[in-house]
Amino acid sequence: MKSIFCCSGLMIVVLQSSLHADEYLNGIKWEEPKVVTVGKNGVPADAVILFDGDDLSAWNNAENWKLDDGVMIAGKGDVTSKAEFGDCQLHIEWSAVTPPTGEGQGRSNSGVFLMNTYEIQILDSYKNTTYFDGQAGGIYKQTPPQVNATRPPGEWNVYDIVWTAPRFNEDGSLKSPAYMTALHNGVLILNHFELQGDTPYHRPPAYTKHADKLPIRLQDHGNPVRFRNIWVREIGAAKGEPARPAFIKNSQTGEETPVK
Ligand code: MG
Repeated sequence: MKSIFCCSGLMIVVLQSSLHADEYLNGIKWEEPKVVTVGKNGVPADAVILFDGDDLSAWNNAENWKLDDGVMIAGKGDVTSKAEFGDCQLHIEWSAVTPPTGEGQGRSNSGVFLMNTYEIQILDSYKNTTYFDGQAGGIYKQTPPQVNATRPPGEWNVYDIVWTAPRFNEDGSLKSPAYMTALHNGVLILNHFELQGDTPYHRPPAYTKHADKLPIRLQDHGNPVRFRNIWVREIGAAKGEPARPAFIKNSQTGEETPVK
């Protein structure tokens, strides 16, 4: 028997586990997960940095955007990342114009377009009502966020986004839709939301076959929204190969029984 701990709950677990001679083994030879350390400003070591306060060199069409004291400020025209991504984890921080100007969709409007196509809205939605599927954290014209976690103008908002790219068949038809999970200032606002397609203003969403990887786009909607600390990680499932069929192993007798 293993050590008995002072906590009675733990003791029960240990006693129970010692009673099980059978162990389930799935037969998969897993690759060891890579070690990823987290550095300054919470940036993972394997992230592609799109903006860390130094320069706008990771972006196309950024000539008319400003760099001011480590902050990137929206200017004329959308900017697109030079790097392209499919499935990814995106971290981006933004801050509304202060003091606030405009109303509704006119107050600190910008947006993050995954794959240059699918917008999660950026808007000063602090005490600023608009159509709900157009407020901060909504997938534009498809769903509002579950809650409104927007901080007041002048404070920083943080989006942490998990993106699953859509897949297409050879003939251009949709194989599987895109999904987005998002946290706004650490609060869940989208939980594996299934996108219906792109996010235009003037027509219903639709899917059109595109490349497996595309840039991230930040929107110019005429408001000098501020950005900082933007990074992306390419993501995928844990890697492993089936080495043999799953089985149950008896630790006392060594007997192996296939799982049916
Ligand atoms: Mg927008």
